[in-house]
Amino acid sequence: PVGVLAVVGRPNVGKSTLVNRILGRRAAVVEDTPGVTRDRVSYDAEWAGTDFKLVDTGGWEADVEGIESAIASQAQVAVQLADAVVLVVDGQVGLTSTDERIVKMLRASGKPVTLAVNKVDDRESEYLTAEFWKMGLGEPYGISAMHGRGIGELLDAALESL
Ligand code: GDP
Ligand code: MG
Repeated sequence: PVGVLAVVGRPNVGKSTLVNRILGRRAAVVEDTPGVTRDRVSYDAEWAGTDFKLVDTGGWEADVEGIESAIASQAQVAVQLADAVVLVVDGQVGLTSTDERIVKMLRASGKPVTLAVNKVDDRESEYLTAEFWKMGLGEPYGISAMHGRGIGELLDAALESL
């Protein structure tokens, strides 16, 4: 049996872009605007000789309980089914209260978490990762899912925890 790696995080941080980058094809749907309901989607992936299942938690709803709880419950199911998690945050936006809520849920799950700070599009922007140390998840990996920066280092760390 292969390990399952779930990609979680609030809408628009670049989860699907990251999934596509890892798969090397456009399988996950990238959206410019949040609010689309979509199921969790699992893909067969491979990295550096390791086969694994990659789960894009693309679905969310702005339901009556509010978008934050919907994101959290969506992520929660994916996390329960996963062996390890990549939490994606947006380096250009910075740390948000929703990110912190998701971290609480991840901590409760006991699953290993690797932190990806996305939209760190060039070397000069690497400083954006610094504030995310305070999430308490260890090293924040600066990546650009869009441009393919830092993906190898992130995956080496995440797959190590599978
Ligand atoms: P998701 O909602 O977390 O799955 O996010 P998406 O993958 O759909 O991406 C949301 C938006 O962020 C899209 O407009 C992407 O093109 C953009 N985006 C994703 N990754 C990056 C990145 O590394 N850098 C920049 N600048 N934009 C990105
Ligand atoms: Mg998505």
